[in-house]
Amino acid sequence: MNSAATDRIQHHSAIIVGGGPGGLGVAAVLEGWHPRFSGDFQFPVPEVQRIAEEFRDSPLELDQHRVLNAGLRPIEFYRMRHHPTQEALPLDEWTLKFEKRQRVGWKMLSLDKPGGLWNNVPREQLTLGPAHWMELAPYPVTQFYADTGRERDPNQLIHKDDIVPYYHAFAEKLGLNEHIQTGTEVRSISPLPKEAGARFLVEANTDTGEQQYTCDYLVFAVGPKSAERRLTATGADQPYITYGYHHADDLPGDRVMVIGGGRSADWAATECHDSGKTVVYVMRQSPEPHLKLINDSQYLPYYQRLAQILDGDQERMGLLYGSEVKEFRQGGEVVVGTPEGEITVQVDHVAVEIGGEPDYGLLKGFPGLTLVPKRDNFRFQVMQMQTDQATFESVDVEGLYPAGYLSKGTGLSVIGFHCGAYLIAGNILRSSGYFDT
Ligand SMILES: Cc1cc2nc3c(=O)[nH]c(=O)nc-3n(C[C@H](O)[C@H](O)[C@H](O)COP(=O)(O)OP(=O)(O)OC[C@H]3O[C@@H](n4cnc5c(N)ncnc54)[C@H](O)[C@@H]3O)c2cc1C
Repeated sequence: MNSAATDRIQHHSAIIVGGGPGGLGVAAVLEGWHPRFSGDFQFPVPEVQRIAEEFRDSPLELDQHRVLNAGLRPIEFYRMRHHPTQEALPLDEWTLKFEKRQRVGWKMLSLDKPGGLWNNVPREQLTLGPAHWMELAPYPVTQFYADTGRERDPNQLIHKDDIVPYYHAFAEKLGLNEHIQTGTEVRSISPLPKEAGARFLVEANTDTGEQQYTCDYLVFAVGPKSAERRLTATGADQPYITYGYHHADDLPGDRVMVIGGGRSADWAATECHDSGKTVVYVMRQSPEPHLKLINDSQYLPYYQRLAQILDGDQERMGLLYGSEVKEFRQGGEVVVGTPEGEITVQVDHVAVEIGGEPDYGLLKGFPGLTLVPKRDNFRFQVMQMQTDQATFESVDVEGLYPAGYLSKGTGLSVIGFHCGAYLIAGNILRSSGYFDT
């Protein structure tokens, strides 16, 4: 490092990269919002029940390997208290409470505001599950609804207009904003030599230029789409192509091509159709998995609507299965390879929703990270980092913690990963000697 660069280095005990629900959960605990168990609670394993009683006032102090050895997955140890039932519990029945203690030095670097990718989803986006499945336990969504005069049922799906303000309010209410730096793009995370006195070097582009940070604990919470997939077809930069759909009104003209085949593309195709546009829906997959996804999702109003469109006598949605765009020409002429051969389609606009993957390239300074594939019934799939299941610390790199659903052992949803925050923050606190004084 040259001396000009060293002038600009900031040190923090922990750096959290990514301000989505994954990063925010860890931030709250590092800020000092520690869980405790209160009232009567029951764990299914007697030894775990005994351990939980012993640590009820400060479960973060517990080495979760004891829970693991007793036969319960540590993430379940917290999840059973946060979500003991499928339905949202009334607040006075919660056995998971929080108490403010001393903070440790943490900083969050994030491109987006609190809430992560939810800031950028389509304008009318609804979740796949109930509102309380999206919540971070230190500030229950029921409490947020009450505080903001929203008459909503936490067991119902939650709209973007509520979930984004919820995550913003979470950061505000718990005093996190002072330590969250948004508009910051982390470019690389690399190891430091032992004599440097810190484990990680983080290089980022900020509003005011390049900045370097060092830290001892790195929480990697960049989310599932931080490395967006790009189309390889010729002309993929034509001005009539939009990457990342927000609303049908943003797409000029009447004829829209939607490229994708997952849930986000289904949303865009349905909404464009219902706004009166003619939709050409292009996807690589064959009809079977797509129709299975639609059938399996009939509990969601927006999938009922898509099924209705496809079942009915609609004439404004054409689906091209097993197909791939070969070329985007000037003026909206798109060449598509289909099982029957190449065809040319004339459209006014193209919306591309082909997803992304976690940007593990940011960690290229750590070759040999062990990644394992994970997929779930909601049809998400992602590569997860191999971690110690009691701490969610990487098995390959000391002090590195994948958060959100980037750690092995979490489900691919907020309810599936949130309690990993207590394993991560607890291990950071214990290994940094927080509880020793
Ligand atoms: C349309 C849609 C609907 C969904 N519906 C649901 C649902 O109903 N229920 C559910 O549980 N999940 C749902 N998900 C999954 C979603 O991934 C989670 O809800 C949640 O947002 C994941 O949280 P996260 O913190 O891991 O990642 P994200 O929310 O993606 O947050 C990560 C953040 O990290 C930041 N970041 C990334 N790279 C960098 C970098 N290099 N430098 C700085 N910052 C960076 C970005 O600001 C990014 O927003 C949905 C996803 C989508 C796209």
